Amino acid sequence: MTDLSRPVARPARASDQVRVAYTRPNTFEIDLKAIGDRAREIRAAIGPSVKFFATLKADAYGFGLLPVAKTVLAAGADAISLVNLADAVILREAGIECPILVYAGSALDRHTVEAHERFRLMPTLYNEESLHAFVRYSKGPLDCAVKVDIGQARLGIPAEAAGEFIVRVAKSGKLRIAVVNAHPYVSSGRNASEALRWQFSRFEKACADAKIRGVTIPIRVLASSKVLRLTSKMNLEGIDPGQGLFASAQTRSPFHALRSELIQVKALKRDAHPDETPFPVHDGMRIGIVPIGYSDGLNRLNAGIALVRGQRVPILAQPSLEYTRLDLTGVPNACVGDEVIFIGKQAGEEISAAEVMAVREITRLPDLALEVKATMRRAYLPDA
Ligand SMILES: *Cc1c(COP(=O)(O)O)cnc(C)c1O
Repeated sequence: MTDLSRPVARPARASDQVRVAYTRPNTFEIDLKAIGDRAREIRAAIGPSVKFFATLKADAYGFGLLPVAKTVLAAGADAISLVNLADAVILREAGIECPILVYAGSALDRHTVEAHERFRLMPTLYNEESLHAFVRYSKGPLDCAVKVDIGQARLGIPAEAAGEFIVRVAKSGKLRIAVVNAHPYVSSGRNASEALRWQFSRFEKACADAKIRGVTIPIRVLASSKVLRLTSKMNLEGIDPGQGLFASAQTRSPFHALRSELIQVKALKRDAHPDETPFPVHDGMRIGIVPIGYSDGLNRLNAGIALVRGQRVPILAQPSLEYTRLDLTGVPNACVGDEVIFIGKQAGEEISAAEVMAVREITRLPDLALEVKATMRRAYLPDA
């Protein structure tokens, strides 16, 4: 157990076990091999000398931090970057030994500085306060990154001041410059490439300013997913794609399936108040109840239909908090315990992730995974 000097909220042990044993039958199935294939594709494209930081923010964009971290490292990533310091500590406690760059998710103070030192994490310096915290509390020297705001109005030291700032960080005695990075804004507009080149030249100039003042920068990183899609000319000494680890034209979707099962099947009969039903009820109608609802994220994770016994059946009304109703009139032998698929394949039928994304107007696959709430069990197909 790690001795953390500040109390950390952790779920109680017993309740963890209860959750695993008795949780509802709702599963998000993830294809790690698809993620590994994508990481290998990126590794092959950048060549062996460019450092590959796999950015695993937001619980690896919803796919699960630790399994995804192990997969991308085995597939050729050199390092991991993320925002939440707690996630970085969790990776270390799980035995992940690679460099971990923390993009700054908490203000730096004595506790967070100590955590970076104790767990050998690379902090991000981005303003006077962050540097001051290290000067004051660090035993040093620790490898660090400096994040530059190159005009995209994001976290970072403004490009004009960056050269001088990098020098002060390097001379603080508490920190060694390992990385200088920036995260450009790339729109989908007509002038996106031009605006990217402008940001890139500001980044190069900030790094050159530091070099003129005698500081060498081992790894400059600017190319995140959208940059890599546009050009390989900005790879520099390192890249840090995030959402692009989960989708490409060549590799399969890692969003393998979203499944549950029927817990009740019954015929509906309605004699009074026919207008007061959540959906139109007709003679001979049979419905099924599935124990999954909008508290699990299902309202954004369905295409209005589900698969039962290999048939497409309509979802009736909207999912409620923990239940969803299906129209099973067309599947007379459906019964309690039958598998229900909202995304994925069943008996030759399929509802693809792309079909759900089109209905829900979600453009990026990781944004679909981010809709899956923590109430759902994650299950991983073997990375074989
Ligand atoms: C999120 C993030 C990335 C990765 O961005 P994608 O667009 O998901 O590839 C890279 N660098 C920084 C600093 C980030 O915060």
